[in-house]
Amino acid sequence: MNLRFRSKLLALFLFLIILFASVQGYLLYFSKTSWILASFIGVLISGFIAFFFLRVLIRPIRRITELAFQFTPESKTEKVFPDDELVNLSKAIREMGNQLQKKIVEISQEKEYLQAVLRGMIEGVLVVDEKGRIRMINEALQDLFALPSDVADKFPLEVIRNAQLESTIREVVQEGRNLAFEMDVPGVDKKIFEVNIVPILGGPVAGSVDRKVSGAIAVFHDITRLKELEKIRQDFVANVSHELRTPLTTIKGYVETLLEGALKEEVAPQFLQIINRHTDRLTKIVEDLLALSRIESREFRLQLEGISLAELIDDALDFVKGAADRNKISISRADLPGPILIQGDRNHLEQVLTNLLDNAIKYGHEGGRVTVSAIETDQKEVRIAVQDDGMGIPKEDLHRIFERFYRVDKGRSKELGGTGLGLSIVKHIVQAHGGRVWATSEPGKGSTFHCTLPIKSETH
Ligand code: ADP
Repeated sequence: MNLRFRSKLLALFLFLIILFASVQGYLLYFSKTSWILASFIGVLISGFIAFFFLRVLIRPIRRITELAFQFTPESKTEKVFPDDELVNLSKAIREMGNQLQKKIVEISQEKEYLQAVLRGMIEGVLVVDEKGRIRMINEALQDLFALPSDVADKFPLEVIRNAQLESTIREVVQEGRNLAFEMDVPGVDKKIFEVNIVPILGGPVAGSVDRKVSGAIAVFHDITRLKELEKIRQDFVANVSHELRTPLTTIKGYVETLLEGALKEEVAPQFLQIINRHTDRLTKIVEDLLALSRIESREFRLQLEGISLAELIDDALDFVKGAADRNKISISRADLPGPILIQGDRNHLEQVLTNLLDNAIKYGHEGGRVTVSAIETDQKEVRIAVQDDGMGIPKEDLHRIFERFYRVDKGRSKELGGTGLGLSIVKHIVQAHGGRVWATSEPGKGSTFHCTLPIKSETH
């Protein structure tokens, strides 16, 4: 019987009135009972039947109340009126409502945390459902691949054109295990990503201990810089080995020739001279490498002090004077605009100037000139220039000469005892002082190396 509760109550009420009237009428009419007794018996019988029917009617309410209290466990013991079903039911429902509200607040808070985490991540994140369709992406991924914002329900292949990404996501969803692969993204600024894909596990599969896979999350780490550094490191090791191998092979060759009998011949002193020269070269390479690694190390600290620029330049000129004289090159300092005090590390700045002067002499020509000058560009910075009138540097090599082991003319540099590391050391020291270094040149006419250094301020 699918009557509404209100109709059921109404029917019961009408039935009771009819029952009462019938019982009372019967007793008054047939048994000639007094009016009071007939009414009393009528009330008694109707009351008894009402009690029975109400119990039946109330039973579902009790069941609902019990059920509602199960969802609000903490209030189960606090029934206000233990026998009033409707008051308890309304209290249980109010409790349920409160807890539901609390849960909604908690869930939306958690959702916000999650979104803040996803927004804050530098890694790109892509979430797909069990069919492999996109559920969401974070802002980082959107930026990395310049994706539109409405990618929901599309397949990853439709928005990120990479077949391996699509197939790996499918594999993860089907097999429920983590997978990772490296993804190359060609283009103007070529990028490499490490993509880690993990399954999202839902409820258990019927009749098994396994859990259902309800989707997958792919995290994109940009490892372009890491790969570049790895390549630089590999190139560096290859370069160092190559640089060391050449003099070592020469030394070994001459030592073997001497051991095989040449020691007693006239050429022996000449061979020993060559061995000596190559040993010097090896020593210079190792010294320069050590200098570079010291400057690049985390522990590297400059010993800063106020240094007179004129004094610094003159000391460096004194240091290279012998080499300049041997090459018949005149070296000098142009007049400075006034006494300039720079804030720097004396030993390292001397190395900067001697390396630059050394090159100017090495790549200069007999009878040439090398001049060191300086101007204050503003209150904070001075710009030093080492100018020569030597062979110059082709335009296409200018931006590469500060790289380790980069030489314009390999043969000439080696012949002149160069290691290919001098300018790299210069660059690191100047940058450690907060300055910049660059070169300008006109092939055949000469080169100028410029570097900026901080002026010592009153507050230093
Ligand atoms: P190297 O030990 O070979 O001199 P550097 O790092 O000091 O190494 O210089 C790198 C390259 O830059 C040199 O091999 C040379 O080709 C070029 N170079 C540097 N200074 C000058 C200069 N003043 N004139 C012409 N070329 C220069």
